[in-house]
Amino acid sequence: MPESVKPNSPREGPFTPVSWLVIGVAAAVGCSAGIGLATLNYRGTETARGARRSEAGARLGSQPRVLWSVDTRQKAVALTFDDGPDPRITRKILAILHRHGARATFFVEGRNAARYPELIRAEIAGGHEIANHTFNHRDFQFNSIEMMRREVAHTGGVIEKITGARPRYLRPPRGHLHLDALKLADRLGYQVVMWSIGFERVKGFTLAQDADIVARNLRPGLIVLAHDSSPTRAWVPKALPRLIRKIQARGYRIVTVGELAEMQGT
Ligand SMILES: [Zn+2]
Repeated sequence: MPESVKPNSPREGPFTPVSWLVIGVAAAVGCSAGIGLATLNYRGTETARGARRSEAGARLGSQPRVLWSVDTRQKAVALTFDDGPDPRITRKILAILHRHGARATFFVEGRNAARYPELIRAEIAGGHEIANHTFNHRDFQFNSIEMMRREVAHTGGVIEKITGARPRYLRPPRGHLHLDALKLADRLGYQVVMWSIGFERVKGFTLAQDADIVARNLRPGLIVLAHDSSPTRAWVPKALPRLIRKIQARGYRIVTVGELAEMQGT
C-alpha cells in the first residue's frame, strides 16, 4: 500500500490528529508527535524524509499523488476553506481575505455551490481558487466508487458551469484518504490535496490562542485547513483576522494551493 494511503490519515473535526500534533507542539513537548505520516511533522529533516518516502510511494505523473504540503523555501502557505459556500459565513471570510490581501482555495460542496453560485462568483472575483469536496460531503470510506464518481463529477460540472474552469484539486470529505479517492482522482484528472495543519477550536484555548498555535507552527509550503460552513464554524471569521495578521507578520504570503504548488522545489 502506498505510504500516503495508510488508514491513519487525519480527519476533519475538532480533534484531528493534526490538532493533537499542534497541541503537542503548543505544549512544548519538544518533539513532533508520531502519527504515521512523516510529512505532517514539522522538523525539517522529517519533512524532507517524508517527502522522499511519499515520492517513492505514490506519484501521479510528475505530481505527487497526494499533496500534504509543498517542498519550497519560499515563505508562503496555502489557506484552504472546506464545506462552503455558506451565506452566513463565506462573505465575511471573503471580506477579511480582501482586507489583508490574502488568497485562498475553497473546497466547496457541490450542493452548496449549486445553491449559492453568487458566492462562488464572489470567490473567483476575489482571486481565490475553487476546488472539489464532493457534492454531498460523502465519505469515500462508506460509499461505492461509482457513487463517489457521481459526487465528484457532478461537483466538477457545477463548478465549471459557474466559473468556466474545471477544478484541479479534490479533497476527500473528513480527510478519509481511501484508496478509491486516489483511483477516482486518477480517472477524473484531479490532484488530491490534504492539509498540513488545522485551524481548529482547541478545548480550553481561546480563539486568539487557536490562531497563535497555527501562526507559530508555520513552515514554508504548509497547507492550512479551515472551514467556511456554519453554524459550528461561526467562530472562524472572529479568529481569522488575527491568524492572517500573525502569519503575515512572520513574513509569509498567503496563497492558493495552485500558487503554492508552483513553488515546488524553489
Ligand atoms: Zn469537509
